[in-house]
Amino acid sequence: MMDKNVFRCVECNEQATELHRDYSNGILTITICGSCQKPVDKYIEYDPVIILIDALLCKTQAFRHILFNTTLNIHWKLCVFCLLCEAYLRWSLLPGSEQSRDPADIIRYTKEWEFYGMFGLAALELAAFCTSVLLFLWLVVVHVQHRSLDFSLLLRALLLSCYGKVLVIPAVIWEHDYSPLCLSLIKLFVLTSNSQAIRVILNSSRRLSLTAVCVGLLSETCTAQVCRRLQQSVQDMLT
Ligand SMILES: [Zn+2]
Repeated sequence: MMDKNVFRCVECNEQATELHRDYSNGILTITICGSCQKPVDKYIEYDPVIILIDALLCKTQAFRHILFNTTLNIHWKLCVFCLLCEAYLRWSLLPGSEQSRDPADIIRYTKEWEFYGMFGLAALELAAFCTSVLLFLWLVVVHVQHRSLDFSLLLRALLLSCYGKVLVIPAVIWEHDYSPLCLSLIKLFVLTSNSQAIRVILNSSRRLSLTAVCVGLLSETCTAQVCRRLQQSVQDMLT
């Protein structure tokens, strides 16, 4: 199922060599964890919808199942999809971009480049967030706690835990006055998921994961501010 035959118990984070045992007479039994005496991964029997609900509730067990015991490799596709949604939402909130619903409105089409700009900005902010979180954790985990850090696993966890940005789709479909509020709530949910994913991957304290997310958010906000200033000064120079 996986390259490295190492799974994790979703209850106690102990390593396990298998999730279930397949007997030759067609009987499958779920492996019991030697440490906590509970099933290593109860979710292998569960419906994906229930796993998704538990992930939405930020349950540690569901995060361990997804991040350690599955080969879910949609993080890059999910990342691009989320960025496209976010770019469209930001673009639709720009002044002047929704004044006319006429498909023949030439101004709306000439504003298309602004959409790509928003996409680039969202991608840059995400890159700043991930880079600073990884840097911060590298400093703390490797240099202070003297533990090893798997960057690719952590990046996959960070990107997968951004799945909450998909909630932007309803905000895009039902354009309304509360879009900025929705965006803030979605942001809060995504940051909570990010924090939980870091906590699960590193098996660390909640304080460390929350600090890492705050460092990431700070870096993301600074990047957004710098980009806004740059854009303003370019516009001032042109006018
Ligand atoms: Zn266990």
